[in-house]
Amino acid sequence: MSNTLPRIPNWINGQEAQPETAAWLDKFNPHNGQLLCQVADSSEADSRCAITAATDAFQIWSELTPVKRGQILGDIVSAMKRRADELADCIAAETGKPPQDARGETGGAILQAEYFASEGMRLHGRSLTSGMPGKYSHTVRQPLGVAGLIVPANTPIANIAWKTFPALICGNAVVLKAAEDSPRIALLFAQLTKEAGLPDGVFNVIQGRGQPAGATLVSDERVNVISFTGSTGVGRWIAEVGGKRLARVSLELGGKNPFVVCDDADISQAVHWAALSAFSNAGQRCAAGSRIIVLKSVYEEFRDKLVAKAPSLKLGVSAGCDLGPVVNKQQQQSILKAIETARQQGGHILCGGSAPSEHDLAQGYYIQPTVIEGLATSAELSCTEVFGPVVTLHPVENLAEALQLANATEYGLTAAIHTRSVDRAMWFAQRVKAGVANINMGTYGSEPHMPFGGFGASGNGTREPGVEALDVYSELKNISFLVRTDHL
Ligand code: NAD
Repeated sequence: MSNTLPRIPNWINGQEAQPETAAWLDKFNPHNGQLLCQVADSSEADSRCAITAATDAFQIWSELTPVKRGQILGDIVSAMKRRADELADCIAAETGKPPQDARGETGGAILQAEYFASEGMRLHGRSLTSGMPGKYSHTVRQPLGVAGLIVPANTPIANIAWKTFPALICGNAVVLKAAEDSPRIALLFAQLTKEAGLPDGVFNVIQGRGQPAGATLVSDERVNVISFTGSTGVGRWIAEVGGKRLARVSLELGGKNPFVVCDDADISQAVHWAALSAFSNAGQRCAAGSRIIVLKSVYEEFRDKLVAKAPSLKLGVSAGCDLGPVVNKQQQQSILKAIETARQQGGHILCGGSAPSEHDLAQGYYIQPTVIEGLATSAELSCTEVFGPVVTLHPVENLAEALQLANATEYGLTAAIHTRSVDRAMWFAQRVKAGVANINMGTYGSEPHMPFGGFGASGNGTREPGVEALDVYSELKNISFLVRTDHL
């Protein structure tokens, strides 16, 4: 049967490339557990081949002016717009997202691409003053060389656009390590870059497992900048290995993001945003609001409304469904295990807590939206990311205690507070340990021109996208010249 399945190869030097070992991984449909396709199980040699292609193409690409590079990226944007439905359908099939979510993500990726394509006409340096008479000084941005971009499957086309467009506009050539669970969208995007006129070798895709396919990008001396989005554990390893050889490393890692509800909040709005933060994309967001901290006087009202709302969310992959499955069986099993551990540690499962048993969902990797209360703030599920539709509730006496609890994990990615008081909102936003602080909205919602990244174990201090991404993907050079006036 597997011979008739589609096989998703690598993309090297402008064409499809089969894995040198002829080994393939099975990729399953998250909605029904059936085999969907096979994915190249790339070896170290495959990754090195892609790095060679990128190294060779770098020369031509980096010599183009940023404006010209921006025009070519603009043509890729046009192709993405023309084929947006196809991109969205591909994401929906691979990840199990409901169609409106897949379309929304594709729209976000296009905006991202558009923003960085137009950066070709800006890519500003600075004009500097000097203490030396006749000396003029300025900075320019120069590419680093080969960019190794490693992405997860949670928002696959957005993740690809997030890293690829800033890397390319700065003049780097790219090797993208696609996620095991979203291989086809990476190949589709690669094909589209060729159709749009990107020179061969400037954008390459390596499929397969993190180790060895992704790890080779981290260890190979020819990869000058590594941008990784994924789990904190893998990020630590990349920081160590990439850091040792002094490669530039940008890490976008996990989160356990606090969502604070004050006693003066609009509770219905807070419940609306809390449910979106915790459960949309089946909780598979680095920016998911997975710890809800509520002031005691409104705790019961908030809890009862959230517990009424969660089971009303519709699971499935058809239009209008609120959340789909998680992306693979291993992830589903690890979430169920985390819920069981929470139960054993004294957590009360107020709703959800298991995989649904309905006939049309039972074979997929679904998890019911789950709300847990009564868990100690130091319990595993209160502090570690589960990357699924699971949220814990924590009542607190006052805002000071809410802040203390909000800052009590190793992470620091995003945070939200719901209050009608500007004073409370600003007090909290200034003090919370998070790279993004939102007031009266969800824990997610960054836009292409806004810097995103985290404190603590959520990253290594870089910010992507926004204009700050240019600092990840370019070297800054200071050029000075001395004007002589004695011969005039
Ligand atoms: P993961 O770390 O297991 O894998 C992410 C990618 O890294 C995959 O392509 C994988 O193949 C690759 N990889 C794994 N081991 C590797 C290694 N040793 N060397 C090189 N590459 C390797 O993460 P995941 O479970 O796929 O994704 C979920 C995680 O991503 C969560 O922790 C989530 O918070 C995080 N995430 C962070 C952001 C952000 O912007 N901060 C955004 C989305 C997801």
